[in-house]
This record gives sequence, C-alpha cells and structure tokens, in this order.
Amino acid sequence: MARTAIYPGSFDPLTNGHLAIIQRGLKVFDRLVVAIANNPEKKPLFGVGERRDLIVGALSGDSRVEVDAFEGLLVDYCRRKNVHTVIRGLRAMSDFEYEFQLANMNRKLLPDFEAVFVMTGEDYFYVSARLVREIAQFGGDVSGLVPPNVAAGLKKKLGGR
Ligand code: ADP
Repeated sequence: MARTAIYPGSFDPLTNGHLAIIQRGLKVFDRLVVAIANNPEKKPLFGVGERRDLIVGALSGDSRVEVDAFEGLLVDYCRRKNVHTVIRGLRAMSDFEYEFQLANMNRKLLPDFEAVFVMTGEDYFYVSARLVREIAQFGGDVSGLVPPNVAAGLKKKLGGR
C-alpha cells in the first residue's frame, strides 16, 4: 500500500523552504497531499485558488503530489482523506514549541494521528512565507527564496510597489 502523508499549511505563498520539505518528504512517503488551509480570517495575500495554482506551477506535474485545500480542523480533513499522518517542517525552537503543542492536541482529537517532522536545511531555515510577503511588499528581491513562478505572482499581485 502506498504511504501517503498530508502536508498542511497556509502556503501564502509557497516558498523554496516548503518545496524542500516536499522533496524530502517524497523520500519517505510515496505520495503527499499538499493541503492549503483556507482561513479567511488570516487575511491571506493570495486566495486559495491562486495559492493552489502557484503550488501546481512550481511542482511541474509531479504525479506523486496532490494539491488540495481544506477548511476547518486538520483532523477532520485527515478523516475525510483517510490519511492520518501529516508532515511538517521545523525551522527553529520557536517552531518546535508550537508544533509540539499542535501535534499533541491533534492526537487528542484523533487518536491515530501522527506528525512527522523534517528539519530544514541550512539553505532555508530563515525563510518564511510571512517574511517573503514583507520583502516583496517593500519591493525587495525574493528570487532564491521562492520558485520563479511565485516571484512572478508576487510581482503581479503587488504591482509596481
Ligand atoms: P510559514 O512559512 O508562513 O510559516 P506555513 O503555514 O505555510 O508557513 O508552513 C507550513 C509548514 O511548512 C509548517 O510546518 C512550517 O514549519 C513549514 N515551513 C515553512 N517554511 C519552512 C522552511 N523554510 N523550512 C522548513 N519548513 C518550513
């Protein structure tokens, strides 16, 4: 049976850090479901459809990766997909505290929930979607931090700013 994991996140937008987690995740799992959390309260820069298109564009048709979106609780989405393992990236101690709390809460809500963590490499440990948005908003150069189609999407979204 194919081993599948869900990779949930905001992906607002996809960064090279996310891509590295996907690539490394595929060494451990046969299939990944990149699941975009649709939380309008977070006031995302990109809508869910746009975020999905950017991810699909960056993956260049890798059939091992499905791109999907969900609303509500991650554990309910896991139940619907019948996939109870998620993969998450760990950058720093600050990620660890939050992820530790989240993983335990999710296991409380769904007893056979499992979270697998991939530690980020030295290339991308400082990259977050939030910082990328901030840099792009102020007209900074984000090439090298995000795939080329995302850099183009940021430019288009933020105009000549
Ligand atoms: P953000 O980049 O804004 O923190 P996401 O919610 O999109 O946000 O992140 C989804 C998952 O990807 C989380 O597990 C997060 O820790 C991980 N992640 C994000 N950026 C990186 C990175 N540069 N290296 C490793 N993991 C990352």
